[in-house]
Amino acid sequence: ESEKLSKSETIRLREKFIAPSCKLFFKADPLKIISAKGQYMFNEKGDKYLDCINNVTHVGHSHPKIADVAFKQLKTLNTNSRFLHDNLVLYAERLSNLLPPPLSVCFFVNSGSEANDLALRLARTHTKRKDVIVLDHAYHGHVISLIDISPYKFDHPGGEGKPDWVHVAPVPDVYGGKYRDDKHSAEELVQLYSDEVQKLIDLSAANGKGISCFIAESLQSCGGQIILPPDYLRRVYKSVRDSGGVCIADEVQVGFGRVGTHWWAFQLQGEDVIPDIVTMGKPMGNGHPIAAVITTKEIADSFAATGMEYFNTYGGNPVSCAIGNAVLDIIEEEKLRENAIVVGNHLLIGLKELKEKHSIIGDVRGVGMFIGIDLVKDRATREPATVEAQHIITRLKQELILFSADGPNRNVLKFKPPMVLSLNDADHLLRTLDSILDEIKAAN
Ligand code: PMP
Repeated sequence: ESEKLSKSETIRLREKFIAPSCKLFFKADPLKIISAKGQYMFNEKGDKYLDCINNVTHVGHSHPKIADVAFKQLKTLNTNSRFLHDNLVLYAERLSNLLPPPLSVCFFVNSGSEANDLALRLARTHTKRKDVIVLDHAYHGHVISLIDISPYKFDHPGGEGKPDWVHVAPVPDVYGGKYRDDKHSAEELVQLYSDEVQKLIDLSAANGKGISCFIAESLQSCGGQIILPPDYLRRVYKSVRDSGGVCIADEVQVGFGRVGTHWWAFQLQGEDVIPDIVTMGKPMGNGHPIAAVITTKEIADSFAATGMEYFNTYGGNPVSCAIGNAVLDIIEEEKLRENAIVVGNHLLIGLKELKEKHSIIGDVRGVGMFIGIDLVKDRATREPATVEAQHIITRLKQELILFSADGPNRNVLKFKPPMVLSLNDADHLLRTLDSILDEIKAAN
C-alpha cells in the first residue's frame, strides 16, 4: 500500500473538510495508518504497531476470507431485505442459535446506535412506558435518543444533562465506584448496588410512570472496563421485570466471544440470566457496518401489533449477512474464543505480577480479551492517576503499541484488541509496560 497524499497534506485536508468534533487518537501527533493485517497496523513509513485498541476488527484486520466473501457477494447481488434471500435467514437462524431460546427474533441495522435506538423503541412499545434506568458513565450511542440516556455524553461538555425520564444508577465498580471492596464484602456490594436500581424503580413507580427498561453493557467498557459483580444482573433483571419493565443487554462492544468462555458477556452472570433484548454491532461485521437487535417473539409481536412497518434500507442486505456469517465461521475455525481465554488469562497473570512490582497499578481486572488496568496515585485512597495514564499511552505508542484509556477519570488502560492477538504479543506488551513503569519510577 502507498499513500495518495503526504501526511501533512492529509492533515491539512482533514482540518479543512472534516467536522472538528470528530477527534483523532493521539491529537498531538496523529497516526496515519495505511494498512493492517491481523493484530498489526502499519503507518506510512512501514512502522508496525501492535493494536490493542481495535475491538471492531475482531477476527483480525484485513482478513482474506471476509474480503473474499464480500467481493463474491458484491459481484452477485446486493439489495434490501424486501426480497427473499438465503443469507438473511441463515444468518438470523445462526445468531439465534447462539443465544438462549427466547431470544430468537432479529432486526438487522447498520450501527450500534441504530440497534440501541430500536431497542428503546421496542421496550417503550411493549411496556407502554418511557422511563429508562441506565448505569452511570454508560455510553450507548450517538443519536439523540441515546445521548439522552448516556451519562458519558449528557454529563460532559456539550451535554444538556439528564432528561427527567432517565434514571442513573451507580455503576457497580467495586474498585473505584460508590461502594468499594475495601469497605464492603462481596455480598454487601452486590446488595448495595442492586438496591440502588430498586430505589429508582420505586421512584419511577411512585411518580406514576414505571420503568420501561433497564439498559446496560454486560461489562461496562466506557466506564473503565468494569466487571459486574456476580449476581448483579440476576437481581437487577428480576427487580426490573417484577416492576413490569424489560431488560436490554448492550453487547455492542463485548459480544461475539470477546470474553472467551461465552458468546455473550451477560452469560458470565449465569445461565438463567437472560435479557429480553440484546443489541450487537462492532465486531459483528469485522469493520463492515452491520448491527442487530435480537428479542423475544412476545416483544417483536407487540411492536408489529402497532401496525407500523419497520424498514431499514441497508439492514440485513446480502453482502452484510455474508460478512456476518464469515465472521462467525472464522471465530469458530480459528478458535478465537479459546485464544481469548488463553491469551487473556496469560495477560491477567502477567499484569497481576506487574501490580506486585508497581504501586501505580491499583487494580487489574478482566475476562478474555477485555482487560482494564486501573492506575492510581495512591493505593489507599485509590486516587486516579490520570496524567500518568496519558503518559503511559504516549510511551506505549513510541514503542509501537496502541492503547487507549477510559473511565470517568481516564485512568484505566483498556485492552480490547483483535481476538487474534498472540501469547508472544502479550509477552511483548508485558515487558514493554514493565520497562515504562520502571522508567516512571526512576523519574520520580
Ligand atoms: N453501545 C456501546 C456499548 C458502544 O461502545 C457503542 C460505540 N462505541 C455504541 C453502542 C454505538 O455504536 P455505533 O458507534 O456503531 O453507533
